[in-house]
Amino acid sequence: MSVLRSFAASLRDGTIEVIDLTAPLSEKTPVLQLPEPFGNTIPFRLEEISRYDDRGPGWYWNDIHTGEHTGTHFDAPIHWATGRDGEDVSQVPVSSLIAPAAVLDFTAEAAADPDFLLEIDHVKEWERANGPLPDGGWLLYRTGWDARAGAQETFLNADENGPHTPGISVECARWLAEEAPVIGLGVETVGTDAGAAHSFDPAFPCHAFMHGAGKYGLTMLRNLDRLPATGALVVAPPLPIVGGSGSPVRVLALVERGQPK
Ligand code: MN
Repeated sequence: MSVLRSFAASLRDGTIEVIDLTAPLSEKTPVLQLPEPFGNTIPFRLEEISRYDDRGPGWYWNDIHTGEHTGTHFDAPIHWATGRDGEDVSQVPVSSLIAPAAVLDFTAEAAADPDFLLEIDHVKEWERANGPLPDGGWLLYRTGWDARAGAQETFLNADENGPHTPGISVECARWLAEEAPVIGLGVETVGTDAGAAHSFDPAFPCHAFMHGAGKYGLTMLRNLDRLPATGALVVAPPLPIVGGSGSPVRVLALVERGQPK
């Protein structure tokens, strides 16, 4: 049997399970909030055009109001000043949009310390147990933060000093960008950087180094607890917004049933 025919048969008979890593998109979807004087994105909103009424008796449809960086979304290199000459979201090669994933679980650490930072040594320790990070794949960073995604306040977790959410250290961000074989980083939080990363040097190092290296980000993922540490295949195609810096994205993971977690 051909590879694709066998693959389709496995999807039908459940040998390959499809897991949705995407947060539902609604007006309640939490969005990033930057302090003054920075600009901010709008919440997601539907604007009804007609609903089986005199504006359109037989049909229902909406306009959508959204930012590029709303809910589960894809960050393109051009999103950051360091990647300004890189790909916009419509230019990301489609071959990158289906890729293997490594899942690193730091839920316990993030529960104990909301400002927890992933370090190079954490990744190297994971590699000793699970093998190397996938060449051309995603590092999916699980922190348990998806459990907070139902409310803006708990998701952003801000106090008078700013937000407190887990992220990546400056050194680890540089290493992932310049030395690791991955094409990008996926997280459960509102952005790929830690909540406190505004005060790091450089600020927002994950964005700065990863996009500067032409790599990508995926945010506000969920259900990472249902993925094995290695072996999942991630399908993450953003909308081809011409000139866009990012896009809401439906992220699916394909997992072979019976595969050890
Ligand atoms: Mn973003």
